[in-house]
Amino acid sequence: MQRLYHIVLSVAKAEFAPGPGRLREQPEPTMPKLKTMASRVNKLDTRTAPLPAKTCDPFYLSREWRVLVAKIRRERGDACEDANCKGPHYPGQRIYADHIVEISDGGAKLDPRNVLLRCSRSHGLKTARERVKRQRA
Ligand SMILES: [Zn+2]
Repeated sequence: MQRLYHIVLSVAKAEFAPGPGRLREQPEPTMPKLKTMASRVNKLDTRTAPLPAKTCDPFYLSREWRVLVAKIRRERGDACEDANCKGPHYPGQRIYADHIVEISDGGAKLDPRNVLLRCSRSHGLKTARERVKRQRA
């Protein structure tokens, strides 16, 4: 109803607009925006233990690592290499270059034999396994 009123008003204004361009386009009247109310229920953190803060080793931002990964992707094809991974794999999927033996466990940083390309599922599962191993140690 409000909208119809505005349309009628615009036409009326255009009809009676002075000057040569009688049917000039009138600026659309603006409606005040509706404000949404904030939730009155507080969020509850149900985790029993907080996850450790996510930190990124600056090594993974280094030129040497990025050059090595680009070379591996070119040579092996940008696809998941995890033989135990059940996928799903699809074109355009994000593929991670992952150290087979982690650096913190003494794995070679820049040896291509210590790097495996993994899809996000494989990478996530491996990271979770490593985290459990570390928490038990
Ligand atoms: Zn995979």
